[in-house]
Amino acid sequence: MTDQSNRAISIEESTHFIMDQKLWLKILIGMALGIITGLLLSPTEGYGLSLGLDAPHAIKSTAQWLSLPGTIFLSMIKMVIIPLIICSIILGIAQSNDMGFVGKIGATLIPYFIFTTAISIAIGITLANIIQPGAMIDSTIAQQAIDASIQTKGLPTETFSELSIPERISNLIPSNPFKSSVNSDMLQLVVAAIITGLALIAIPSATGKPIKELCIAGQVLAMKIISWAMLIAPYAVFGLLASTTLQFGFQAIESVGLYAATVLSGLLCMIIIYMLIIALAARSNPLTFLSNIREVQLLAFSTSSSGATMPFSIQAAEEKLKLRPQISRFIIPLGTTINMDGTALYQGVATIFLTQFYNIELSITQTVMLVITTIGASIGTPGVPGVGLVILATILTTVGVPPEGIALILGVDRILDMCRTTINVTGDLAAASVLNKWLK
Ligand code: ASP
Repeated sequence: MTDQSNRAISIEESTHFIMDQKLWLKILIGMALGIITGLLLSPTEGYGLSLGLDAPHAIKSTAQWLSLPGTIFLSMIKMVIIPLIICSIILGIAQSNDMGFVGKIGATLIPYFIFTTAISIAIGITLANIIQPGAMIDSTIAQQAIDASIQTKGLPTETFSELSIPERISNLIPSNPFKSSVNSDMLQLVVAAIITGLALIAIPSATGKPIKELCIAGQVLAMKIISWAMLIAPYAVFGLLASTTLQFGFQAIESVGLYAATVLSGLLCMIIIYMLIIALAARSNPLTFLSNIREVQLLAFSTSSSGATMPFSIQAAEEKLKLRPQISRFIIPLGTTINMDGTALYQGVATIFLTQFYNIELSITQTVMLVITTIGASIGTPGVPGVGLVILATILTTVGVPPEGIALILGVDRILDMCRTTINVTGDLAAASVLNKWLK
């Protein structure tokens, strides 16, 4: 049996259960029960007070217990996601065995990714400027929301270091890949994986065989571990949603409801854009496309992680969308790391929302800078839950918004994360469908 078929069988073995056991249905039930439990336990909206859940520390510790299966689930995924993405990209390139073809994919894919990301930021910024969610917000409610968020969560204040553009470019090449792994610098790792994949095509195939076999083993192993994590996915989803609703309730959504609605309408616009792309560029039926990727979207929605969803995206691309493995196994792992349309849109809306809230006028040049920085930031955002918000701090500082403003939108971030991850994953599958059509 060839390496390729060995790998295909193992991928199938580690992922088939998602379709077989109606995992998506269990996840849906977990989500619903999680929201109900969170609301019932909430001191403001449910019976929390009579159960003794009045002090912030009591709420926090209950929330921690509730989210335990979720944290275990996500840690297991994070444990294997870096090797999985690296092995997938190396194999995606090396197995095509054709430098010209890889060059052709790259030359089409990168402009495509940048183009769709730019469209999605433009939609976000335009909607935020029309709806003006930041101008409407009541400043006392806003201050309460900021104080409550700082108390319960603490703030992500991490920002990129101040690097010049030549330094940033040279930084793309990891001089020490182990250090990049330790720092989870996905962009450097992706570049290292692409260079390794290309080198594997260039050397004699017999010499490169052990490395390819190692990557196959690494990939299959990582998928097996993800499949174990998936066994607790419904409980993880239950716990994560219960703890979010318990901590933030509907109140958190109310105060920044218009902002959340702006992000959600932007994300809906992106679905329409993808449907157009599928109809016009991939020449397929957009409704069939959406129904074929429904399970993958649900998984992205409930895990908030494009990384965790990646193996299932590859499987859906090959089995349901009938894309060529040569395309799907290269584009989806790459897209998981660098193509984040939903995240970029959300970051655009959040930035404009906060400039409105703080009364900061953006000039045209600053708006263009915002678009460019957000494209860069979304490329560097790893596909794990919540990081879009962390990276947002960097974007805010470039346009002069105090990063503390993030506290205002923390309460609704989880739900928006779920929605933007769904769009991120849909964008990767749309890209794979288009390139499958374009590159023969
Ligand atoms: N959770 C998102 C993803 O995995 C990234 C983000 O936080 O925006 O795609």
